Amino acid sequence: MTGADTQQIEARLEARLRELTRTRDAVGPVPGPDHADVVNHPADLAGDLHDREVDAGTRLIWQEEETRIAEARRALAGGTYGTCLTCGSQIAPQRLEAVPEAVRCLDCQRHFEGAHRQRARL
Ligand SMILES: [Zn+2]
Repeated sequence: MTGADTQQIEARLEARLRELTRTRDAVGPVPGPDHADVVNHPADLAGDLHDREVDAGTRLIWQEEETRIAEARRALAGGTYGTCLTCGSQIAPQRLEAVPEAVRCLDCQRHFEGAHRQRARL
């Protein structure tokens, strides 16, 4: 993998993360007593309403994607990007093209999601 490729992937991961963070910020923090005194957007009154429209499953998916992006960036920095975390085989280039934060091959990802997200599946 060339330096230019690495930079391009890093930029795509960065963009995904920004998009994710923006969506989550627009919705607001997880409702609950722990967050009652944390008001990130005092002017955004609509945030409260949105809070109740976003279920735990959606938040879980965001959190998982954020984790995957972090893992992908770590792999990129460590030179293991494109190698499946689980089985160590090469992840298909077209998969990385479609899902830049992929850290597992399709088979392993299916297995991983099946094991960890049986009920939260949308
Ligand atoms: Zn694999």
